[in-house]
Amino acid sequence: MKILVPVKRVVDFNVKIRVKPDGSGIDLANVKMSMNPFDEIAVEEAVRLKEKGGATEIVVVSIGPAKAQDVIRTALAIGADRGILVETPDVPVEPLAVAKILKGVVEAEKPDIVILGKQAIDDDCNQTGQMLAALLGWPQGTFASKLTLESGAAVVTREVDGGLETVRLKVPAVVTTDLRLNEPRYPTLPNIMKAKKKPLDTKKPDDFGVDIAPRLKVLKISEPASRKAGVKVGSVAELVQKLKAEAGVL
Ligand code: AMP
Repeated sequence: MKILVPVKRVVDFNVKIRVKPDGSGIDLANVKMSMNPFDEIAVEEAVRLKEKGGATEIVVVSIGPAKAQDVIRTALAIGADRGILVETPDVPVEPLAVAKILKGVVEAEKPDIVILGKQAIDDDCNQTGQMLAALLGWPQGTFASKLTLESGAAVVTREVDGGLETVRLKVPAVVTTDLRLNEPRYPTLPNIMKAKKKPLDTKKPDDFGVDIAPRLKVLKISEPASRKAGVKVGSVAELVQKLKAEAGVL
């Protein structure tokens, strides 16, 4: 089976982001960028499936500025075989445009499974996988915490409200990863060196006939209101008294 893994370059999850003073967006100057953590999980899962003999080739694709090559190289160092950069100007590309481009990549590459992250941690949209499945007319298994390949099928255990659900998808199919699917490995230095020699193709949204002009307008971005400090109570009686008199919840 051939696996396609879309990987997005996002602000590193350790960075404490700052809102621009005019509220027009996030300040990205001198901010560390990395692969979206859910996409690292997707790459790791694809590599494990290949190591187990269930997958034959892993292609990673990123839609973004030339700098997004870094996250493709990281994926290649984890164990993917080949990369595709669909180069765009350094502006946010909305999930629908990303899904349309991915549909074009799927039509060209003909993978059996596309494994995406469940969400990108910059915009937290949680839309691209579902939109891609709809555009392709493929079955989808979102929020996967376990994935096994059987002949002609992918069995996905999904994290849903109140428990786990297992679905069997006829391939070709779309899967999105949840946090507990696996713990991604760190690329080793020899593999980072080897990744530099792996093939990386560059395309443009126009190659897939996709217009990436935004359909949404961001009106304002603001910090969440800061929380008031809490208080420590000395006894249960004091807690009950405060809940009655101050919080008014009893
Ligand atoms: P989202 O719907 O934006 O939360 O993103 C969900 C998933 O779609 C991510 O975890 C990626 O696997 C994929 N994705 C979103 N945007 C991009 C992008 N620009 N390039 C490659 N993959 C992307």
